[in-house]
Amino acid sequence: MFPANFGYVAARSIDEALQLMAKHGEEGKLLAGGHSLIPAMKLRLQSPQTLIDLATVPGLRGVSVDGNNLVIGALTVHTDVASSDLVRKHLPGLAEAASVIGDVQVRNRGTIGGSVAHADPAADLPVILTALNATLVVQSPSGSRAIAVDDFFTDFYTTAMNANEILTEIRVPLPGAGSGTAYAKLPHPASGYVVVSAAALITRQSSGTCTSARIAIGGLGSGPIRAIATEMDLQGKPLTLQIIAAAAAKAAEETDPVEDSYASVEYKRHVATVFARKAIAAAVERAAK
Ligand SMILES: Cc1cc2nc3c(=O)[nH]c(=O)nc-3n(C[C@H](O)[C@H](O)[C@H](O)COP(=O)(O)OP(=O)(O)OC[C@H]3O[C@@H](n4cnc5c(N)ncnc54)[C@H](O)[C@@H]3O)c2cc1C
Repeated sequence: MFPANFGYVAARSIDEALQLMAKHGEEGKLLAGGHSLIPAMKLRLQSPQTLIDLATVPGLRGVSVDGNNLVIGALTVHTDVASSDLVRKHLPGLAEAASVIGDVQVRNRGTIGGSVAHADPAADLPVILTALNATLVVQSPSGSRAIAVDDFFTDFYTTAMNANEILTEIRVPLPGAGSGTAYAKLPHPASGYVVVSAAALITRQSSGTCTSARIAIGGLGSGPIRAIATEMDLQGKPLTLQIIAAAAAKAAEETDPVEDSYASVEYKRHVATVFARKAIAAAVERAAK
């Protein structure tokens, strides 16, 4: 399939990209890695008249530490997130999630900002970023604003960003001492996208008692689902294998999967339990180191 004819313009700064967005309005579309947008254009699901390329804007790519946050530029490709020493050291769960996206080609071109802005319910990064309590920083002609990840994914392929905003960076709080992060995914055997995934950020005392938890489940709703009752329930509990298994089952119960051509509700809940257990157990193990 070929896309409909379109124009292309390479932005040289965020300001220029914002001006181009204002000029082209609904007929313009931001281009990052193109690994979701171009397939959609080939299928004629989207037919923008002009692509505004962000890959040519300097300063939007890279990983750094700013105070208590890890800051990831929106144009940072999945490979760079997965292989970043900073990410691997502080947030191994995020490196894990970025490393299991698609294949090498997708990871070398696709960007963290594109993935988050696209808000595919079967994407990996929204799930781990939800568990990590990330903040999404967006810029419009009137300035920038920060959106908490819990408010960001509003529906299937829909976010809290306005049409005149560009996602510029993702800020992730650096977990404190005694914290561990992890991501576990059942990929679709053909596409590699998420069937079910789970992400966890667990903080524990040296005694092994859980002090806080954030758990997100992917693939079972319009976006990541936080298992809030399970998070509360874990607080103050010893993180034994039994408690982790019970928490995983409870987290799966907090989802509301629908049957589709791939799987029944029972199967999806079962897989959610298995992968939530993997993610929580791995996060607990890392927290103990
Ligand atoms: C074969 C294949 C397999 C894949 N497998 C997986 C997988 O297993 N897991 C997974 O999570 N993903 C997967 N993907 C998707 C991949 O991760 C994409 O790279 C990602 O979803 C989109 O990132 P992008 O940089 O390519 O964005 P683009 O395709 O360029 O853009 C996507 C959308 O986001 C908008 N956008 C992009 N950047 C910004 C920005 N900074 N601010 C505002 N809006 C912006 C664009 O306008 C567009 O609407 C796969 C893709 C392919 C082709």
